[in-house]
Parts: sequence; structure tokens; C-alpha cells
Amino acid sequence: MTERTHRIEDGRIDTVAVHAGAPRPRIHGAVVPPIFQSTVFETPDEVASYDDIVYPRLNNLPNHQALGKKIAALEAAEAGLVFGSGMAAISTALLAVVGKGGHLLAQEQLYGGTRTFVEMLDRWGVEYDFIDADDPRSWDAKLRPNTRAIYVESIANPLVEIADHRAVVDFAKARRLVSMIDNTFATPVNFRPLKLGYDLALHSCTKYMNGHSDIVAGAVAGSSRAVREILLLLNHLGGSLDPHACFLLDRGLKTLPLRVRRQNENALALARHLSAHPAIAAVHYPGLESHPRHDRARELFSGFGGMLACELAGGEEAAEQFVRRLEMITYGPSLGGVETLVTRPAVTSHAGLAPAEREALGITGGLLRVSVGIEAIEDILADFGFSRFGEKNQS
Ligand code: PLP
Repeated sequence: MTERTHRIEDGRIDTVAVHAGAPRPRIHGAVVPPIFQSTVFETPDEVASYDDIVYPRLNNLPNHQALGKKIAALEAAEAGLVFGSGMAAISTALLAVVGKGGHLLAQEQLYGGTRTFVEMLDRWGVEYDFIDADDPRSWDAKLRPNTRAIYVESIANPLVEIADHRAVVDFAKARRLVSMIDNTFATPVNFRPLKLGYDLALHSCTKYMNGHSDIVAGAVAGSSRAVREILLLLNHLGGSLDPHACFLLDRGLKTLPLRVRRQNENALALARHLSAHPAIAAVHYPGLESHPRHDRARELFSGFGGMLACELAGGEEAAEQFVRRLEMITYGPSLGGVETLVTRPAVTSHAGLAPAEREALGITGGLLRVSVGIEAIEDILADFGFSRFGEKNQS
């Protein structure tokens, strides 16, 4: 093999997604690294610590290491780490970063599972406050002497709101906090938060990173020191990724830029069509000029993402009829796969809230959340019924 003239890890994201982290020299010449489907490995001559024993829970199989490097390169980080789910990544990272006696500032509109976990943190001696991530002037009032971290999402669910990311980074630096961002919705193809100054990027790789709706996985990327601290806790909490799932995630990541760009295009086209349709009362998509943070999204992101939400003029009844009449598109939760999915947040992700609380957040009975896939846009539009959408809701 000839000497490389540049590091693949520092290159263009399409090349990084295919090649970064792959073991060199190739194992037995294999272009696709083998799955290390073994739980027992011979003891090496020198084992400095428990964490050096080769064992799948200790996240040190070649499959884990290759993926960690690829995710680090995708997020422009020094180091990366994979987990058995997005929640394993989030819970382990929060406990490692904030810890007993610490205080966390967390965005109000978090993914429900994360929000519930934050509300449980006092069991481990961690305090928290929720903040309006779009109102930096309100943050100082919530700051405490023991505040250690600020936690936000790149694009929040389901109304695709965009936090004041520059202000989060500046605030964290000025007050010596660790800034953490769940980058699941934007993906590193559309937004690389560490380049803006965030300390840690987290993912539910179940979604776009894998992209094929067939595994549950998570990831964290950041400085080598921070990732090492999180790894030592992960090794004991045990939310490690199975080697077969590592193989699937690595395969999925190779097409991440292709998939996400297509999803960006399809979502923008769908959002434009929906905005022009009389049966639709409102469309929430950062790529539309009508989105309240469109300018921020244009400045920070290289694409507006595959997630949008829309409100049917006919309310709850029209929304229920609409989802039951879909043919190609699946009415089901989750997001980020190659197939288009539609959910009704009022009866799924936000069903646990009181109706008044839901309304206050803008989550009405007529709201649909769409995870736009990579299908031909004509077929997505056809299933949305642009030739018969009105009939779908009137009949
Ligand atoms: N973060 C976001 C933004 C999510 O949407 C989800 C799941 O829906 C998670 C984290 C949790 O990920 P997982 O289901 O892989 O544990």
C-alpha cells in the first residue's frame, strides 16, 4: 500500500463516511472488516488495567474502535464512542459530565426520553433546571455555583425549533460549562457542532446515522479526555453496542451524506407543497422562509434536515383520517430511516402531557410529524394526496 498523502479523517464528509476508521492494514485484506463475534479473547502479555482486557462490554473490539474513529471524524472530534442506544449515550454522558453534586441546564423541549431521564437525575444527586434555549438572557438567572453543563438539541422535536447555538457555546465558554448537544436530527452532514465550539455531540444512531430502521445504537464525540471519562463509566454501566450492530451501523454510515442530502431535498419539496395546500393550516420546517429561525438555520446548517411538522386545517379528525389512508408511507414512530414515516405527536411522543400543556407547546391534535425518506418525491407527494389530498380530508 502506498503512503497516504493526507488523513482521510480530515477530508470531505462523503469520503470520511466511507473510509474513516477502517483498520489499516486491512484485516486479512477484507474491504469490510469482519464482525468480532466473540466474547472471549486470549489474555495479552501486558494488561495495565481492567479496561484493557479485550471484552465486548469494554468497547474495545476492532468493530467498536473503527466506529469510534469514524464517528469522531464525522463530528470533527478527537474521539468517538458507540453505545447500545441513544439513551445509553445520553444517560452515560450526562452522569459522567455532571455527576453527584453538580447542576445541569437543559433545553425545555428535549426528546421525551431525555427529558424524563433529566427529571430522574436527582436520584443520583444531580440537580437540574430547564431553560428556554432560544432566550439567552434568561439563562444567567438559572445558573448556580455548581452548574457544570448545558444540554440542548440541534433541532428540537416535533416543531423543529432551533436553539440559539452560538449563544449556548459563548455562554458555556464564559461560565466554564461543558456544552452538550444531541445532534440526532441535524446529523453531521447538516451541522458539525464541535466546529462551532460545542464540547460534546451525542446521537441516537438508531435514526439517521444508521438510517435503515434496523438497529438501536448511540454515540458520543468530543475531546479524547472527555470521551475517555465517559468510556470508563460506560464500561461499568454496560450500555455497549453489540458487534453485529456495530457492523450494521458502519454499513449505514457509509451512505449517510447521500441519504441526508436526498432527505433535505425531499423535505424541502414536501414542505413547499404543504405550505401551498388549502388543507394545511401551518408548516414547520427550518428551510421555509416562514420558519421563525430560518436565518439562523441558513447561517449554521448546510441543509435543513429531513424532519418537518404540519398542522391540518381540519384538526384532530382530519389528521386521524389522513394517517389511516396512507398507502406507501408508514404511520409509525421513530425517524431518520430511508422510508417516509408520519406520526401524530399528540397521541405518541407527547401523549403523556396534559392537553393544556400540549396546546401550550403548540402540539395540537391536528399536528403531523413527518420523517421524510429517500423515495422519489413524486411518490411521497402522491401518498400525501396532492392530487386527492382535499378529497382525503373531505370524504
Ligand atoms: N435523541 C433524540 C433526538 C431522539 O429522537 C431519540 C429517540 O427517539 C433519542 C435521543 C433516544 O435514542 P434511542 O431510542 O436510540 O435510545
